[in-house]
Amino acid sequence: MYQEMEWQAQAQADVDAQTLENEQDTKAFEAGTRLYTCQNCGAQIIAEAETSATFCYYCHAPVVLAGRLSGAYCPAYVLPFVVPREKAIEQMQAWCKKHWFLPKSFTSEKQLEKLTGVYVPFWLFDCDADAHIQGIGKKVRTWREGDYEVTETEEWFVERGAVFPFSKVPADGAQKIEDALMDAIEPFGFQQLKPFSMQYLSGFMAQKYDHNHKEVLPHVQQRVEQKCIQILRSSVIGYSAFIPSEQRAVMQHIRHDYVLLPVWFLHYTYRGKSYQFAMNGQSGRLAGTPPLSIAKALLASAIGAVLVFLLVLLLGGWIFL
Ligand SMILES: [Zn+2]
Repeated sequence: MYQEMEWQAQAQADVDAQTLENEQDTKAFEAGTRLYTCQNCGAQIIAEAETSATFCYYCHAPVVLAGRLSGAYCPAYVLPFVVPREKAIEQMQAWCKKHWFLPKSFTSEKQLEKLTGVYVPFWLFDCDADAHIQGIGKKVRTWREGDYEVTETEEWFVERGAVFPFSKVPADGAQKIEDALMDAIEPFGFQQLKPFSMQYLSGFMAQKYDHNHKEVLPHVQQRVEQKCIQILRSSVIGYSAFIPSEQRAVMQHIRHDYVLLPVWFLHYTYRGKSYQFAMNGQSGRLAGTPPLSIAKALLASAIGAVLVFLLVLLLGGWIFL
């Protein structure tokens, strides 16, 4: 067995972004907003004091006023909406045109009217990840010697390590909203983040966070570790196989910010099942599982069957010989 060691080290990232949480901001935020709760799904919705929320962005059930917010709910930063309502509806319509099997009611104007702009609570993490992988790399050589085929297998001990700086790794702080749906509309351009000010809330809703930064940390840890391992594994080259015995990344110098990110939501119920769509309010990127209209799907397969039948009739002269 051979030894091979290679260590890379990267300068620690310059993570000195400021946290703007202070008491004054928090008081202004609490005074300028009202909290609503959905009786149906439990969503907790923040709206400007002057705007009254009437229905839930998540399930469209009526909401009731729960009073004022209290606690550390004032975000440090906000990513303002770039995609306006009309543009979001337009994009949704264009997307619907590409999906033939959508139920008619889904593509109706009345349905698309329900599109709601919501600021989703997110935690953004900065950290240095101390990553390490090790295992056995195999090199196999085969050649002929007279009547024999000789195979030589070399086993190398392979080790890779590096410290990777991470900046603004997002994790949503709303239990209600599916992580996969939020991951699917990434990326967000965080260079456009603005220090939070009440004016950004105007015309939109915000979801109150119910997962604090400690509760979302495992999700972030998983994403950071996956990325580190992927980079380190890609540097293990020249072996026919690599069998890892250890792969890990430890997050260090962790800091977080509470921010609001812009998302257009569309909820749809079809045959008793709920469908949730989300559009990145900055880039317009759309994600969600489209409902399938059974009637349209049956019609399409019927048309398909007729076409096959016609084709068979046309070619029948020799197909049935
Ligand atoms: Zn609801």
